[in-house]
Amino acid sequence: MHEFGHARQAIEAMIRSGDLMGLLRQTEALHGHLCPGVALGVKAGQYAMQHLDREHYGMEDIVAIVECNNCFTDGIQVVTGCTFGNNALIFKDLGKTAVTVARREDGAAVRLVVHPDFRERMFARYPAAGPLFEKVVERREGSPEDEHRLQHLWAAMSRRELEVPLAEQMAIQTLTINLPAYARIYPTLICQSCGEGVMEPRVARQGNKTLCLTCARQEYYLLTGQGISLVKEDD
Ligand SMILES: [Zn+2]
Ligand SMILES: [Zn+2]
Repeated sequence: MHEFGHARQAIEAMIRSGDLMGLLRQTEALHGHLCPGVALGVKAGQYAMQHLDREHYGMEDIVAIVECNNCFTDGIQVVTGCTFGNNALIFKDLGKTAVTVARREDGAAVRLVVHPDFRERMFARYPAAGPLFEKVVERREGSPEDEHRLQHLWAAMSRRELEVPLAEQMAIQTLTINLPAYARIYPTLICQSCGEGVMEPRVARQGNKTLCLTCARQEYYLLTGQGISLVKEDD
């Protein structure tokens, strides 16, 4: 396995040495900004990976089951190496800032869930952050200066949150789980209307025609910031 997996060696070393700041910087490249959510994701991921004690080369030998798609999950993806693209990231649409990271060989797992009062307590520690967040992110009414100010504040808060003891931020539970099966590889079929390739289980048959779901005008699942929903193309 010598030269393979080289790209993750720096991250694996940071996990082992507990270099949370280094892991936060790595995550910023994916997430685009620093915020308390990514800091928590980084901490949860680092704790889980150290606990499970396995290097991860993105072949589903470690699986992360996230229960939300917010900033937290980008910390999880970078630190655990379980991503949207390598199928080691499983999404449960539960709307909880929580993750279970598991080792395939024996199902050993750890679940971390952010305390329900985390947000309230965090905003109490940083009085300027709440109103600014509301204005810039929730109401989308911030000026460029407001956005800039929030970015600085967010970055400072994310670094501070690295120092806070993990147990003050989230509940930690060790368990053994049955892992989802390895991702299946399906044949690609060609839609007879648009000519694009489609994974077989996402093909619609209409009469003797093979169509993609959009050409067939059928419902499909859409994952957005609101979670998963069933939609049709012109919704
Ligand atoms: Zn964020
Ligand atoms: Zn089509």
